[in-house]
Amino acid sequence: SDRTLTLIRYPAKHQHKSLQAWDSADELLIEHIAQELPALSGSQQPWIVFNDDFGALGCRFAEEQPVWVSDSKIAELSFTENLATNQLPAVTMQDCLAPLPNSPALVILKIPRTLALLESQLLALRKVAGPQTVIVAGAKVKTVTRSVLALFEKLIGPTKTSLAKKKSRLIFCQPDPEVLSREIKNPYPTVWPCRLPNGQTVQIANHANVFSRQSLDIGARFLLEHMQVSDHDNLLDLGCGNGVLGLNALSMAPNAKVTFVDESYMAIASARLNVESNFPEQIGQCRFIASNCLESLLDQPARPSFTKVLCNPPFHQQNTITDHIAWQMFHDAYELLDKGGHLIVVANRHLDYYHTLKRLFGGVTTLASQNKFVIFSAAKR
Ligand code: SAM
Repeated sequence: SDRTLTLIRYPAKHQHKSLQAWDSADELLIEHIAQELPALSGSQQPWIVFNDDFGALGCRFAEEQPVWVSDSKIAELSFTENLATNQLPAVTMQDCLAPLPNSPALVILKIPRTLALLESQLLALRKVAGPQTVIVAGAKVKTVTRSVLALFEKLIGPTKTSLAKKKSRLIFCQPDPEVLSREIKNPYPTVWPCRLPNGQTVQIANHANVFSRQSLDIGARFLLEHMQVSDHDNLLDLGCGNGVLGLNALSMAPNAKVTFVDESYMAIASARLNVESNFPEQIGQCRFIASNCLESLLDQPARPSFTKVLCNPPFHQQNTITDHIAWQMFHDAYELLDKGGHLIVVANRHLDYYHTLKRLFGGVTTLASQNKFVIFSAAKR
């Protein structure tokens, strides 16, 4: 709108040039806030920005020093790079489990893909918002569903939408003291029991944005049944989600070391919680790291190495369907495996990971397969 920013999607080198680092909902939000809400600029009370995928909103309003809240390490890396490129001041970034600042003047919220994440964010917001808080949300038209609007109404107060413009629309929500004072239970983290193949039952806790929050993923179930680990293993649970693969490893081999990695802070927090509650004595053998693929480990001066990497790879990210993440995960796993170590991947049969793994590793074997899923084992020679 009124100024020019240079924005990338992180990591810039892996993105197709046609992928923008902002969308029309960001444009609508920026236009509305700059034109209709100038009185909130420079407010004594804080601004909060939620779910800003690549930092477009955070960059545009960096001078307001908002508290910038995201569950994604990748979003945080994008934002950090975009702030630096545009020579903007540093902004406070926090994950979605950290407490929010009190009595915000303005809340700018991009509607996330997971309704549960929105719900958990509105539950947190109701503790700090007041009638003076202005809440403006934005999203693609198809994301602004009845359930989204119903959540705002139920948790915060009366809610209206703007007309659609360039396939996006805005949501305006007026905090209502009566609604804010209602007693509403926070259902997160959700917890379900999971019976592991060796007969042990663990309780799996899942923060709101965690993959397969309600039950065990069928790909993960298949991998659990075919996992082989020993007490000498130093394992990596790559894209750990709630950490179920690593938990199974601890159950099978109580002396194994496990590193849990995910780009979602809620995933990392869930995995930690699950080791603490199910395997409290093994917590010292475990590490929990938020990272885009294995970047944070590859960047360490003393790189760790692993005997085995377990991976149930993602197939979309930041609302974009893509296979570059799986490729990056396999590539990074190769870098951090010991010679003779293995990358074990479970995947839908229709994804052609066999050839990808073969190209990277040389040798690949099929450990198991059924009608929908296949498990590959790739050895580092
Ligand atoms: N391991 C869990 C299981 O089997 O139930 C979760 C598997 S889920 C298919 C893939 C996981 O990869 C998600 O938890 C997601 O947050 C994570 N992920 C997606 N992109 C990532 C990236 N670039 N770096 C690290 N983790 C990522």
